[in-house]
Amino acid sequence: MKSFNISIEQSCPQCGAPAVLEETDRLIACPYCRVSSFLMGDACFRYILPHNNPDINSSLYFPYWRFKGTLSSCYPDKTDYRFIDISHRGTNSTMFPVSLGFRSQTLKLKFALPEFEGVFVKPELSIDNIICIAEKRFCAKGANSPAIQSFIGETTSIIYSPYYLKDNMLWDGVINKPVCKTLPKDFDINLFVTEKPDWTIDFIPAICPDCGWDLSGEKDSLVLLCKNCDSAWQSHNKKLQKINFGYFPDTDNDLLFLPFWQIRANVSEIALDSYADLVKLANLPKAVQKSWENMAFKFWVPAFKLRAKHFIRLATQFTLVQPFDEIIKKVPDAAMHPVSLPVTEAIDTIKIVLSNFIKPKKDYFPLLTNIKITPESYSLLYVPFKKNCFDFIQPKYNISINNSVLRTSENL
Ligand SMILES: [Zn+2]
Ligand SMILES: [Zn+2]
Repeated sequence: MKSFNISIEQSCPQCGAPAVLEETDRLIACPYCRVSSFLMGDACFRYILPHNNPDINSSLYFPYWRFKGTLSSCYPDKTDYRFIDISHRGTNSTMFPVSLGFRSQTLKLKFALPEFEGVFVKPELSIDNIICIAEKRFCAKGANSPAIQSFIGETTSIIYSPYYLKDNMLWDGVINKPVCKTLPKDFDINLFVTEKPDWTIDFIPAICPDCGWDLSGEKDSLVLLCKNCDSAWQSHNKKLQKINFGYFPDTDNDLLFLPFWQIRANVSEIALDSYADLVKLANLPKAVQKSWENMAFKFWVPAFKLRAKHFIRLATQFTLVQPFDEIIKKVPDAAMHPVSLPVTEAIDTIKIVLSNFIKPKKDYFPLLTNIKITPESYSLLYVPFKKNCFDFIQPKYNISINNSVLRTSENL
């Protein structure tokens, strides 16, 4: 399944100059007023497809859930990954088309804001209902149910598509064509539960709350950095929140620093508190040393989107080596890859990483369903990778990632 990013028309929050964003954009650098704004967003974004008929001044906006992400299913002998990018109507009403088709890929959307007049139908189905529908559609019939299932790098949004009533027919406001011949007798627009668009979009100037310096980042960065006072910031409850961060020093040329979430978590059912526990649990060919019992175990998960197979591989490799390098708590003076995966989603993948390295699998697998992961603390670490022809290589741990795999991760 090919993935795509939605385009959104949104003017500069500072000067009003027109701009077009991609759905993954967070840092908007305006070429007119030269102010950078950061889009606060922890929740699901709501968009509308603009209607295309100047004679209609009030539309019926019908909701579609839009979901994009990779479903990973762990079985004792393998892990399956399935990329899903779907839209599905948000109520059971069969009057409306079941999905948006290609329109959300070809048209520019707008954020659904209070300024839009019209009636907004409230979704009856939850996103979990939609995911169930998707799973039924994509999973092989009669297949064994996996021990654990989870999504990697998912994006969930609601897209409202406009409709209107004319000549006793329901018209699609995007293409201005009726969606069916005549309305059934019992069709009553007032039977839909509706809501007012009182959702807001919050932009704040990308300025360091500690020192007032301009924060820097790529357009899709979820974490912004202050190169003046060496601090890192993420959006949290519509504010900038400072996070612990640092990097592993390296003086080589042609480096790219890739961000990783280093997560300390409580794992129920099994002992996984120290490096010694890891060596036993992963059955690593090493004799456990006494001092390893005092080395706190942490999960290492990429802080950037990547095709699921490579994402889990990198997370597993780094978690198994447990780098205990010196950490410099500054912004590295080299190329950096943006943080495009929030720590909450990284935490959601921990069980899959765990299922990947526990051995022997047949002993531990039955436990997996019951295991609870409770995150305790986390920090962001930039790890140097050396660029060569086809790969980026972490020389100390000999872990590599293919150049094109990293490049093609933008649309995930
Ligand atoms: Zn501007
Ligand atoms: Zn600062």
